[in-house]
Amino acid sequence: MAVQSEQNSAAEHDTLRRFIFEQLPVQGRHVHLDASWRAIQQHQDYPQPVRRLLGEALAAAALLSATLKYEGTLSLQIRGGGPVHLLVVQCTSGLHLRGLAHWHGELAEDAGFRQLVGDGQLALTIEQTRQVERYQGIVALEGDSLAASLEGYFARSEQLPTRLWLHAGDGPATGFLLQTVPGRDPAADAWQHVTVLADTLKPAELGTLSAQELLHRLYHEDDVRLFGAAPVAFRCQCSRARIETTLRALGEAEVRDILRELGKVHVDCEFCGRGYDFDKVDVEGLFAPAPMATTPGQLH
Ligand SMILES: [Zn+2]
Repeated sequence: MAVQSEQNSAAEHDTLRRFIFEQLPVQGRHVHLDASWRAIQQHQDYPQPVRRLLGEALAAAALLSATLKYEGTLSLQIRGGGPVHLLVVQCTSGLHLRGLAHWHGELAEDAGFRQLVGDGQLALTIEQTRQVERYQGIVALEGDSLAASLEGYFARSEQLPTRLWLHAGDGPATGFLLQTVPGRDPAADAWQHVTVLADTLKPAELGTLSAQELLHRLYHEDDVRLFGAAPVAFRCQCSRARIETTLRALGEAEVRDILRELGKVHVDCEFCGRGYDFDKVDVEGLFAPAPMATTPGQLH
């Protein structure tokens, strides 16, 4: 068999695996989200088409997180003009995922990508933990799938030929990515060879095959090296300090109004459902003037 694997693929749940073509300047990744994906759905009762889109977006974020060269977070955000007006997914360099979607109105069971998001924008943001500046690329949503929109993004902003295949149904959310190796343009026919084969993947295959089975199904005539599985998990990065920053941004008047009306300010993290309470003393602390820097007294 031409697919060389570093490990057995028997138990391949919540994993990200990288692979390379030995004879072509093409690399790829496969992701399988199971328990992590179910955990993310526990905090919201998403209608079926929104759930599919969110699952696909999470698979995409995990696939693209490999572009993080240092410790940090990759965010994929859709601001849609359709019923799904906001979708945010994030994946850290440690492969911790979280995500949510906002929608309104009734949605047809089989609503497609364009019906869900309408016209809108897709933003990819990369924040590195130890750096202040962040990188953000924004493109218009195009094509009739999230994968097509992301491919358009890469064609425009990265000039790095990239193709994605995403799948999320009732079971796991899965994804498959092919990308040229930076600085080594493959011959057009080589890129066509690998992508045309991947285009024969059926959604059911993408949803059920392990990385090794999938690579064998597509590329048994090529030499492919499949690397070991990295675990992917749901984990929220919310904290009291982050909620405090949000409340300060909301403004003192607004926060004091809520306090007056309800006796406390309660904030639920939308990603994980965790609740944070701020009583009168906490709110005083939030908006207390920062202590003045003490300047040495002048001698008279
Ligand atoms: Zn949270």
